[in-house]
Amino acid sequence: MISIGLRIIREQNRIYTLLLRLLSYLQPAGSKVYIFHDILDDISLVKSPFTISKSSFESFLSDQLAKGNHANTFEELTQIILKRYTGSNSFTITFDDANESVYTKAYPFLKAHSIPFIVLITKELIGKPNFLIEEQIVEMAHDSLCTIGSHALQHKMFRYMTDNEALMEYNESRTYLKQLTGQNVDCFAFPYGRLVEVSFKNIKLLKQTSYKFAFSAIAGNLNQQWLSGKYYLSRINVCEEVLVK
Ligand SMILES: [Zn+2]
Repeated sequence: MISIGLRIIREQNRIYTLLLRLLSYLQPAGSKVYIFHDILDDISLVKSPFTISKSSFESFLSDQLAKGNHANTFEELTQIILKRYTGSNSFTITFDDANESVYTKAYPFLKAHSIPFIVLITKELIGKPNFLIEEQIVEMAHDSLCTIGSHALQHKMFRYMTDNEALMEYNESRTYLKQLTGQNVDCFAFPYGRLVEVSFKNIKLLKQTSYKFAFSAIAGNLNQQWLSGKYYLSRINVCEEVLVK
C-alpha cells in the first residue's frame, strides 16, 4: 500500500511530464540535451535504458551531424539557456554518473568528430569498478571539448534530504570537482532527476548556490523553461529502445 504523499508526488510527476510533452508539440524546435550513461561494446549486453551499445551511440551522433544539427559547446549551451538565441537545430551531449566507458568508449569518438560534451559526476562513484578514476576525469577536463559538472556527492534521491544535506551535496561536490580539475563547475544534474525524486524545494535551494543551471531527467527541449526553469532543464535519455522507434 503506497502512501497518499507518494501518490500525490507521482501524480505531480505525471502531470508535469505530460505538460512538457504537450509543450514540445507546440514548440518542437528547441535545442535538445541528450543523456547517456554507460556505453557497452555490444548490443547483446544492453539490459536497461541506462546503457547503449557503442555502435548505436556512434550512429546516433553521426545521424545528428548528417542531418545538419549542431553540437553545442558549453558556451553555446549557456547562451541558449539564457535565451540569447534558440539554437533550434542544435543539441548537447551529457553523460550522467561517470561510467568508465565515457573515457574508454565515447571520448575517442567525440574527440575524432570534435563533438563537445558534459560529464556529470557523482563523487562517491569515482574509482569504483566500471567508473572513472580521477586521472581520466582530469585528462578529459583539460580537453576544451569536455565540461565537468556535478551529479552530487552521493547518488541519492534529493526529495527526502534536509536542506543542510542538500546544500552539502550541491556545494561540496562542486568544491571537490573544482579542486580536482582546476576549472569552474557551473552545472548540476539531479540524481534520478524526476519530480518523484526532486522537490520544488530542492530546486529553489539550488538557485541559492553558485551553479548557473541544472538538469532534470524529464524529457523535453530547452524552449520549455517557463515550466521547468533553468535549474530544472529538460533532457532526453537516449537508449536502444528510443533508437529502434
Ligand atoms: Zn545518475
